[in-house]
Amino acid sequence: MNYKKISIAALIAMGSSMVFAQDAEIATWSGFRKGAASFTFDDGAPSHVSDGGPLFDKYGYKGTFNVVVNWNPDWSGFGNMAKNGHEIASHSNTHGQNMSGEEASSKQSIASKIQQKYGIITVAYPNCNVPNKSAVQQNYVIGRICNGSWQSQPDMMGKDGPSDWTMASAIMTGSTGTNDFKGNMQKAVQQGGWIAFLTHGFENKNNGSATYSPTPLSAIEDGLKWAQQNDKDIWVAPMGHVAMYIKERKAAKAEASSSGSSITVKLTHNIKDNVSDYDYPLSLRVKYSGSTANVTQAGAKLESKIDGGYVYFDAVPNAGDIVIAGEGAAPESSSSVEPPQSSSSEPKSSSSATNPWGPKSSSSKGEVDCSVNPFDPSCHGTAIAAELQSDFGLSVYRSSDNYIVVGGAKGMSITVFNSLGHQVRTTRGIGAVQKVYTGAKGVYIVKVGGKSFKVKL
Ligand SMILES: [Zn+2]
Repeated sequence: MNYKKISIAALIAMGSSMVFAQDAEIATWSGFRKGAASFTFDDGAPSHVSDGGPLFDKYGYKGTFNVVVNWNPDWSGFGNMAKNGHEIASHSNTHGQNMSGEEASSKQSIASKIQQKYGIITVAYPNCNVPNKSAVQQNYVIGRICNGSWQSQPDMMGKDGPSDWTMASAIMTGSTGTNDFKGNMQKAVQQGGWIAFLTHGFENKNNGSATYSPTPLSAIEDGLKWAQQNDKDIWVAPMGHVAMYIKERKAAKAEASSSGSSITVKLTHNIKDNVSDYDYPLSLRVKYSGSTANVTQAGAKLESKIDGGYVYFDAVPNAGDIVIAGEGAAPESSSSVEPPQSSSSEPKSSSSATNPWGPKSSSSKGEVDCSVNPFDPSCHGTAIAAELQSDFGLSVYRSSDNYIVVGGAKGMSITVFNSLGHQVRTTRGIGAVQKVYTGAKGVYIVKVGGKSFKVKL
């Protein structure tokens, strides 16, 4: 009796109208990386705004900045950092010995000053002392102590986060801690874990009240350089974002089924608390044999890539059906001589609803079409010229209307990664120049023809 033969025969007998279950896999860490790292900064120092944020922006990474409400932090500066994707979190109102009683009020005070996508979801306890745990759980996704080993916790968290979400650990950096960012991140990659760092001020900078254990900025920069070189392995993201990801991943179900030429994935979880919608995107892959894929969620296009028999994409749980279709995503005709637009569904004249910078105003340099004349000086400007890099005829730069423009890439595949290392766009060079819409400001890595270019929008 050959069971294998029987099962194949049964599948054939079912016919093409059947719906087949498929495997959908949720990545342990965003982007199917091997480990995660979070950089957290306490006390709301002036140097966090003047030096810390810009250093992270330079490498396209985001940190968690824990401010003390009554210490009068630079709300405007931290507000701009929040807009730029950094996490601003609570470090209490008064920085007393124990913050009990300030769990909710500090969150509300910060929320009234700082707007950010996921709200105030992280708290770092002053003096490392755990306050009222239930008040922490009612107000935050995660509460952070200091070195785990000081409080009977591991210094490195595992893939499922801390065993107690009110006692997440972070290793102290600086003169009374470690400056080995690289070594600790390597450990996270090797162990499949999550390392968090706790930094106060920086050596020889304006640290305000954050005088404890200053850390050399150069040590952090070395760490970020290593992270960037190993971005396929290490996921660097704010503490609250990683915490959301882990909680969602642990609670989520991804159920895929195929029918005809498309696969439908239902990505859901039933986490219910008053803190968060838990709508941080999860990274998924689904077995896929097609050569092209058009992935949408609730009708909106998702970025995707096909690799090694899988289609990869990031999607938000509980945000509608994800449909993977093998048709309708074929590359545009390469015979076109028109300057191509992005392969994305967004029209070139993106409205303010889809383009965060809004439509090109009449006061901008609208007369030159930078997709036709990319080297026209008005397409570069001073800020753009600094970003211009070219190599063997390839060029990648920013247009005056905030698109990434790729020149000399006809026939090559173009892939754009955001600062989190997520693939945000993939397309193919068609004409002399290709405009690529990304959807948000930030630092992007554009990979084309085996080379990488960094562009800041
Ligand atoms: Zn502190």
